[in-house]
Amino acid sequence: MPGFELFGDLERQELNDVLDNGVLMRYGFDGMRKGHWKAKSLESELCKTFNIKHVQLVSSGTAAVSVALAAAGVGAGDEVIMPTFTFVASFEAIMMLGAIPVLVDIDETLCLDPKAVEEAITDNTKAIMVVQMCGSMGQMDALKAISDKHDVLLIEDACQAIGGTYNGQPLGSIGDLGCFSFDFVKTITCGEGGAVITNNKDYYVNADHFSDHGHDHIGNDRGAERHPFLGYNFRISELHAAVGLAQVKRLPEFLAIQKKHYTILREALSDIPEVTFRKVPEGGEESYAFLNFFLPTLELAHKVSEAFKNEGVDACWNYYDNNWHYVRKWHHLKEAKSLYPLSSDILASLDTLKTQDFSQSDHFIGRNISCLIKLSWTEEEVHIRAKKMAQIIKQYL
Ligand SMILES: *Cc1c(COP(=O)(O)O)cnc(C)c1O
Repeated sequence: MPGFELFGDLERQELNDVLDNGVLMRYGFDGMRKGHWKAKSLESELCKTFNIKHVQLVSSGTAAVSVALAAAGVGAGDEVIMPTFTFVASFEAIMMLGAIPVLVDIDETLCLDPKAVEEAITDNTKAIMVVQMCGSMGQMDALKAISDKHDVLLIEDACQAIGGTYNGQPLGSIGDLGCFSFDFVKTITCGEGGAVITNNKDYYVNADHFSDHGHDHIGNDRGAERHPFLGYNFRISELHAAVGLAQVKRLPEFLAIQKKHYTILREALSDIPEVTFRKVPEGGEESYAFLNFFLPTLELAHKVSEAFKNEGVDACWNYYDNNWHYVRKWHHLKEAKSLYPLSSDILASLDTLKTQDFSQSDHFIGRNISCLIKLSWTEEEVHIRAKKMAQIIKQYL
């Protein structure tokens, strides 16, 4: 997945444009820039790449989720439905606004289970946040139908699925708002950065102002700009945007490599009847950033992932005991270990996590092994890896 593996001349060239004029900020200083607007250029490039009307760059993927929710009016007391399998950023971004994270089970797509979502809807539900984990997607038709039926927002966190599609539509562009991360380990990187994408003009204008202190960005005198509403600083710098501008142009190349490597690995494992693959909804095409498969039991998945590690098959994980991505080990969340006081409704919701039954999620995450697809492997290395993986799995079955 990581674009940093192929960092090179194009990135250097874009960065040098910024270093040559010294304008490291995305707004203002028109006279000094010599025509270089890296953040603006990256936003237009992303509009084309993801076939979307509006893109707002921000400082991180986590910021993108907060900005997306704020732009659509989600805040104190509102419930946001999110999956048990994601990155800690999901609940961080929700709680940042005083909203309440409501965790629900995933299904065999490794994303939100529509049935669990429907059961979790209350009068306070404001948004469903589908997190397109590990290069693929949830059951978007069903999730969209639920969000329409209950008139709640559908937010797509596509941070890990840049370049995947559903019925030909880029992931991130299907919900009311979509979020990307361009942190150092994502498919394309800015070093640090993120984006909110939407076809809704109002949400875009809100995101544009909110991510820059609520400044209205009208006129040529930045210091005289007015504030239609409160904001914050989630700006991206020109240096980061410059790297992203080079990387986004290479996205088709990165996706092609991922697909090639993924296909070799998948074919090698397809011969083993006990191995099954994560469900990709009909009409969906993965970004091929990860290969996810299931083994028959949790014990087997543990043994195989240990053996992978010991025998040099790196970058494969069983997330059951993972601190970053799965609810079981989010002790700091369940115990509400916050540096500052949290609202009583957030505390009440977090308290339920201690006893909530997530056995359905355990059933999928426990048996899953998730393998990162690297860009820097040679084809020969991928073939050797594929053979080794198949051998190890067969040895334990
Ligand atoms: C990486 C990631 C984020 C957060 O992105 P940052 O840019 O690191 O803040 C959010 N959600 C998911 C699913 C991610 O993988």
